[in-house]
Amino acid sequence: MSTMDTTEMQGVPASGGVSRRMAIAVVGGGSRAASMLRLMNDLENVEVMAACAPYATLPCMRLAEDLGVYATTDISELFQVPDLDLIVDLSEDPKISAQLEAHRPAHVAVVSAAGAELVWDLLVAKKRGEEQERLFVELQVAYDKIRSHERRLQTSKEALERANEELESRLAEIFFTHEFFKALTSYTSVDDVCSLIVDGCNGILGAEISCVYLFNREDWTLCLHASQGRPEEAFRVVVPVSETILGHVFREGPHQEVDVEPGSGSGAWVLDPGDVVSQAAVPLRAGENVFGVMVMASATRRELTPAEFERLQVLGNQSSLSLQNALLHGELERLSVTDRLTEMYNHGHFRQRLEEEFKRSQRFGHPLSLIMLDIDDFKAFNDTCGHVRGDEVLKGVSGVIRQNLREMDIAARYGGEEFVVLLPETESEGAVAVAERIRQQVEQLDWQIGCDSPVGRTVSIGVASFPASAQSAIKLLEAADTAMYRAKRAGKNRVMSAGT
Ligand code: GH3
Ligand code: MG
Ligand code: MG
Repeated sequence: MSTMDTTEMQGVPASGGVSRRMAIAVVGGGSRAASMLRLMNDLENVEVMAACAPYATLPCMRLAEDLGVYATTDISELFQVPDLDLIVDLSEDPKISAQLEAHRPAHVAVVSAAGAELVWDLLVAKKRGEEQERLFVELQVAYDKIRSHERRLQTSKEALERANEELESRLAEIFFTHEFFKALTSYTSVDDVCSLIVDGCNGILGAEISCVYLFNREDWTLCLHASQGRPEEAFRVVVPVSETILGHVFREGPHQEVDVEPGSGSGAWVLDPGDVVSQAAVPLRAGENVFGVMVMASATRRELTPAEFERLQVLGNQSSLSLQNALLHGELERLSVTDRLTEMYNHGHFRQRLEEEFKRSQRFGHPLSLIMLDIDDFKAFNDTCGHVRGDEVLKGVSGVIRQNLREMDIAARYGGEEFVVLLPETESEGAVAVAERIRQQVEQLDWQIGCDSPVGRTVSIGVASFPASAQSAIKLLEAADTAMYRAKRAGKNRVMSAGT
């Protein structure tokens, strides 16, 4: 529509003259004229100076009044408007067009009929363009808002998922802990409780490696009782209480090392130093009495949070209670089957084991031998040297017997100065050899018990074997007993076999 550039449009003086807006008058009373008036009035570089229509009540005239544009019903008045540049004729009346064309001042251009139509179309197109642009901008803003909402939603979703995962893992941990504590109270054997503890360490704290060591007061060491995370061979079985984090915790209490110094020896309860980059341990105690250490480690760096370290200690305390019960239970059980003086099995337990072993041998058709041993002239020894020294002899003899046992053999103090040994998988010949060895060792024993009595230092031994000389447990016992009495009658200090 205009060839003026944008600076001119915004009323800034252009080179060579003063910029001004194009002054326009609109002719026509209909709604199209009204619309044209509104569109023109919105244009920055156009000033609508006047509107003209046959009646003042027509839409275009009303709008002109509303917009403060000069409105007239007399067309000739348009020619009086100063500095008018253009008249747009939308009257669609040929007479008016002719009149305008005939009387217009020379500087005023008139656009009518098809020209006016074109102006109209251009204005509408411009308006639409602006509208579309505005819509586009609004869409852009809305799109940006949606994107940012989407991003926020995504972040919230991720945070929610994380929280959910954390919650699930906490729930699993709580569930595991509950089950763990329940199991702790129902387990009675020391080994079972120790295994449960290392599993608990793994399940509750995610320990890569965990072990339970129990204190052995005889040699002041800590002995491995249960492990998890590596094969058993990966650990030191016996650790002196002066060494590693185990010793430290045994003496000082709970401790964590996030970066275990290589070569410091602190992690040396595991044989491969690469397995212990971080470690933590707590004592297992009954009151002030520490009886073990629970330790965990990882081959990658891991720092327990204060809450985790606290949980490790709770785990240690709860485990201590159960372990203490299991230890007491085990000790009671041990005492109930042990002879106090010699620390060997007692009569009752031996009879029970004899039945079991006999059945086993019978079922698998394996041989089983029984040695019965009686100290010679022990009454006389007691009478000469006293019962206290007699007890020393009993301990000495039980020591010799013990030295000659294999893992699977079962020895017991059968009566006052009588001992029995059950030798599974052993024929008469092998049993006689063991018996003979015991007899000789007792005879040669260097008794330093402050009594020179010539009696009570030798033993008579009877040997019987299944299936060679007995077909029941009790017959086996009787056969060995009989053989032993034969040895007595034959002059004591000898071994007799039921088969000979
Ligand atoms: P033999 O050679 O025929 O076996 O004679 P013996 O004196 O050993 O046999 P006897 O059965 O007459 O005596 C067993 C003695 O063992 C009687 C008892 O004083 C002693 N005795 C049994 N139990 C204990 C114990 O716990 N401590 C001590 N010191 N002596 C015991
Ligand atoms: Mg006797
Ligand atoms: Mg005797």
